[in-house]
Amino acid sequence: MNTLYDAIVVGAGIAGASAAFFLKRQGFRVLVLERKELPRYKACGGAIPRAVLRRFPFSFQDVIEQEIGEVVYHFRGRMPIRASLPLEEGKKPFVMVMRDRLDTHVLRQADVTVEAGTTVDHVEEAGDRVVVSTRDGGRYQGRYLVGSDGATSVVARSLGILPSKKPDMGVALEAEVEANAKVMKRYQGMALFDFGTVQDGYFWIFPKARHLSVGVGSLRAGKGVALSEALRNGLERFGFAAEPLQIHSHPLPSYSGPRALHTSRALLVGDAAGVVGPVLGEGIRYGVKTSELAAEAIAVGDLAGYDRRVHEVVGRSLQEGRRWAAVFYRWPRLSYRLGVRNQLLLPDMVRLLNDRMDYRDLSYRAPKYALGCLLPPRAVDRFPKV
Ligand SMILES: Cc1cc2nc3c(=O)[nH]c(=O)nc-3n(C[C@H](O)[C@H](O)[C@H](O)COP(=O)(O)OP(=O)(O)OC[C@H]3O[C@@H](n4cnc5c(N)ncnc54)[C@H](O)[C@@H]3O)c2cc1C
Repeated sequence: MNTLYDAIVVGAGIAGASAAFFLKRQGFRVLVLERKELPRYKACGGAIPRAVLRRFPFSFQDVIEQEIGEVVYHFRGRMPIRASLPLEEGKKPFVMVMRDRLDTHVLRQADVTVEAGTTVDHVEEAGDRVVVSTRDGGRYQGRYLVGSDGATSVVARSLGILPSKKPDMGVALEAEVEANAKVMKRYQGMALFDFGTVQDGYFWIFPKARHLSVGVGSLRAGKGVALSEALRNGLERFGFAAEPLQIHSHPLPSYSGPRALHTSRALLVGDAAGVVGPVLGEGIRYGVKTSELAAEAIAVGDLAGYDRRVHEVVGRSLQEGRRWAAVFYRWPRLSYRLGVRNQLLLPDMVRLLNDRMDYRDLSYRAPKYALGCLLPPRAVDRFPKV
């Protein structure tokens, strides 16, 4: 309890590891508290745009499992199309990682004090500091605190930094599926998406170095969204055995509009801040971005300005993204025909995910995409079944 840290980071996921890195770079003395032993498994597709890697001054080569330059889309297992993705600075625009390796890689680069296997129970502000109590009776204090403890954040609840209205809470499931060399070759450098089988979401197959991450998620998992059934059906549809299967499930806090993200000494980042993309469910990019913004806010002591910055940098785009999601998932078949298969929209989506555009730009360009509906999509010449 004696040490007064400059900043305590609660949760060592990608947002927490990034926050630790950016805070350390500002010269802060940082402590990270993580409830699991590290490295820890996290249910996640692990698909990352190159833009995320660019935010760090070190290499990710050791943790990249695959580079993705091609996608294959389906609608309920039919109408397949294949698309080559535009390069990002001369490289394939997405990479695949396993989150246990990615998160510990960033944390290692941060080079800060880490207490793993330590569950934070309670956080309170006391004058010029924040006091953190842990389940095993530990007490820590810091001048500032970053809540990066994920979708069910204890920090948010403890400090009462909660959204004024109920946010959209989706859920996603994933299984790590063994595949033989022939199958791995078929999925080499390619991500597969199948739309229209779950409400407000989709099924995916993402290749890793030696296996496939297969999942299904719904951005607004309402009643009647039977995700585990959809996952099994999806596996069978693409030629895999649906049993035995170890399924991992995790909430998906889709962006639901501007909300309070700070107190006088604490900030929320990543899933704890509810910044998951409402169309595709991507959260790694926004976890890293909000962490960078949080470190900047702490460095200048302007925590009140953090909410505004998150809204400017992330929120405005995601708010527009909510509109796209509402239309896209309301008429999935039509959206698939006109949107997913649209040869002009796809390259812009890649640019958007790589920070070169945002959802508002996509809306300005909507008339252009109408032309894209006229261009025939490239059909898949071989159906990627096992
Ligand atoms: C199945 C699935 C697939 C996904 N696929 C993708 C994808 O392909 N690409 C993408 O960009 N996004 C994807 N996402 C979203 C992405 O996984 C999240 O947005 C991202 O993990 C958020 O990172 P985070 O660090 O905020 O939270 P987390 O990764 O959840 O990390 C939170 C950390 O806090 C720790 N913690 C929690 N409570 C406490 C406590 N009380 N005390 C101490 N530590 C605590 C947890 O153990 C955890 O390590 C997916 C999500 C799911 C569920």
